[in-house]
Amino acid sequence: MAYSQPALPYADNALAPHISTETIGFHYGKHHATYIKKYNDMVAGTSLDDQNIEDVIVATANNPEKAGLFNNGAQAWNHSFYWNSLSPNGGGKPSGEIAGKIDTDFSNYDAFKEELANAAATQFGSGWAWLVLDKGQLKVVKTANAQTPLTSGMIPILTIDVWEHAYYLDFQNRRPDYVAAVIDDLLNWDFASQNFLNAQV
Ligand code: FE
Repeated sequence: MAYSQPALPYADNALAPHISTETIGFHYGKHHATYIKKYNDMVAGTSLDDQNIEDVIVATANNPEKAGLFNNGAQAWNHSFYWNSLSPNGGGKPSGEIAGKIDTDFSNYDAFKEELANAAATQFGSGWAWLVLDKGQLKVVKTANAQTPLTSGMIPILTIDVWEHAYYLDFQNRRPDYVAAVIDDLLNWDFASQNFLNAQV
């Protein structure tokens, strides 16, 4: 079924100066919108057209004949998740249950932060860095291109887009500076906590 682009959960200038209005204009307005248009065009009329996008992503993973549908569907979903992973009031240390779970699974917040920053910096080429819940444990993973933890049975908690289009206008080649800004000032821990608590039930 057709997938609609969710409204951006904040104003297009709300993440500035780290992520500028111009970046949002291209990234949300062009890149994300195009993945969604292509996904909708490709899924229409196929046997998968009655399924929601998450099920289509899982059904088309690792199938070279369905690579176009998978790539556009996964990028559509990953970007919607990314916009929610950011907040103008985000960043820094979380609180509540997820904070305790981070201390349990990573030793402490600083160790978690270093692991996430390292995953984001070392993803070679385009891709994503994620905080996921994997069999009850919080982990940091990275995925290439359109790949998504959804296809490995992991539950996404937060993500950082590390495709160049996410940061090039604001940080040029300085991906680590973009990642540091996201972690320190933008990560949406309310969204993460909600995903973490939803995964418990
Ligand atoms: Fe992107």
